[in-house]
Amino acid sequence: MNSRTHVTFDSTSAMHDGQYNGPRDGYTFSPYRVEPLTDFSRAEARRAMDAALAQVAPQLGRTYPAIINGQAVSTAATFDSLNPSHCKQVVGRCARSGPEQANEAVAAAKAAFPAWRDTEATKRAEYLFRAAQVMRRRRFELAAWQIYECGKPRREADADVAESIDYCEFYGREMLRLAQPRRRDVPGEENVYFYEPRGVTVVIAPWNFPMAILCGMTTAALVTGNTVIMKPAEQSAVIGAKLMEVFEEIQLPPGVIAYLPGIGEEIGPVLVDHPDVAMIAFTGSRKVGLHINRQAAEVQPGQEQIKRVLAEMGGKNAIIIDDDADMDEAVHGVVASAFGYAGQKCSACSRVIVLEALHDVFVARLIEATRSLKVAPAEDPGCTIGPVIDTEAYQRILNTIENGKNEGRLVYAGDAGALKNEGYFIAPHIFDDVAPTASIAQEEIFGPVLAVLRARDLDHALEIANGTPYALTGGLYSRSPEHIAHVKRAFRVGNLYINRKITGAIVDRQPFGGFKMSGIGSKAGGPDYLLQFVLPRTITENTLRRGFAPDVEAAEIGPEIIRPRARL
Ligand code: NAD
Repeated sequence: MNSRTHVTFDSTSAMHDGQYNGPRDGYTFSPYRVEPLTDFSRAEARRAMDAALAQVAPQLGRTYPAIINGQAVSTAATFDSLNPSHCKQVVGRCARSGPEQANEAVAAAKAAFPAWRDTEATKRAEYLFRAAQVMRRRRFELAAWQIYECGKPRREADADVAESIDYCEFYGREMLRLAQPRRRDVPGEENVYFYEPRGVTVVIAPWNFPMAILCGMTTAALVTGNTVIMKPAEQSAVIGAKLMEVFEEIQLPPGVIAYLPGIGEEIGPVLVDHPDVAMIAFTGSRKVGLHINRQAAEVQPGQEQIKRVLAEMGGKNAIIIDDDADMDEAVHGVVASAFGYAGQKCSACSRVIVLEALHDVFVARLIEATRSLKVAPAEDPGCTIGPVIDTEAYQRILNTIENGKNEGRLVYAGDAGALKNEGYFIAPHIFDDVAPTASIAQEEIFGPVLAVLRARDLDHALEIANGTPYALTGGLYSRSPEHIAHVKRAFRVGNLYINRKITGAIVDRQPFGGFKMSGIGSKAGGPDYLLQFVLPRTITENTLRRGFAPDVEAAEIGPEIIRPRARL
């Protein structure tokens, strides 16, 4: 035990073939605590980050095979993951897994499932706690990989590793809670309600929180007793390999986890279609999420169970600026929410809805605050806006900006200057007087582009805010308690933030996820998340025996045990 307060779980149950094996003594776990972020105002933290970047630099360009059943599996074809800040730099060359590797991985995961399912929940949770320890030890190095591979500025990369640690610690403890079977015994009848895992789970992740989202979905599946095939996004496949190294170090049994890098459109459908896959945990775009949902609904020959799809998808998030908002806070919060990680967060603000009375002065100050942001390569300690992820995103965002000129007034167009020749840099752009129905006010852009919309009053602002197919995050800046109460009721999004930025949800404190076209499923980092990875079962036993021989049992067990039943 260390100095942290500890809580004792005196009933850390195990489920073996549906049997609850009773309390197990000797296990204590500290209560969940959020992992602190690195304080980069301290010189030693800055030095540690510099050292990690220097340590990782010579490792760029290595080759990463798939890992199936504990074995490295090379493929004839590979794909390159590039550094978006320096787009000629290859961060890693990854196996381009195809149907052969997918089938192999599913077969290994299927074979490993029964033993993993029957492993004590406590033991599975301990694997996660050990993974968290490895990540703590490798914290700066793992962040350095994100800086190189995904163009994350230092603080954002550090926060992503911290969030990964949070998922391990939180889901580990959540499993201990979930593993307590619910009993409803009555005289003559024992009833137990408990959970068991679904089976082989395919985890398909995006690149924008390259380790945290992959780690969150994977650890949730693992700790509940499912076996997992991790399919990272192409753009963050090396970070996926680094996460796999963590899982290898904690020695998860072979087959329990596979690392399967590949091109989403090639390998994804093979995994989703596979009859032995029980569940797909996906985070990414609406287009791909809906496609997976449709595809998984189709029952394949030999398939024994209906597939469960969990899909966390995009957003078109808005912040409302009330006419009495604190301007300093509102400008700061909107800038951070819209342009943090170059607008590539699912929670990013891409619409700001300003009440008429404050509109002009707010926009003027927003422009000046945005002008002060430094566009720079992600490894630069002063970088506030790094590159966008790849050439496809770069072209798409530039096209959106061009089209936006027909839909609104371009009031600020930043210039990334010579950086454009080096990487995928797009400086912030702000459009004013955008109509609520314009495509830049309706479609997710996933880049540093912000639409400003005018509202007559708060109800009009809410109508605009709710008027998209998405419902992920939203925000309000207001000093009116009455308006705050009204918006809490009427702004229908998964995560609503009042008088603060709308990005940076923290595991357990702000469980994260949306509804409408933003997602199917319960919030990541929340109390219901693990339930999606399990199946509930009930076992009822009639303990009122018939036809037994009391003398024999009484002799063996003792009359005091027999008597109460005999009275029934
Ligand atoms: P994406 O949908 O392009 O890719 C996500 C994953 O799906 C990748 O691993 C990709 O290889 C894979 N994939 C692609 N085609 C596939 C197919 N046909 N079958 C199976 N898998 C396939 O998304 P992205 O560009 O990586 O991420 C950005 C998107 O993710 C944005 O829309 C963002 O809003 C969303 N996102 C949502 C959340 C959330 O919690 N709601 C969090 C992060 C990102």
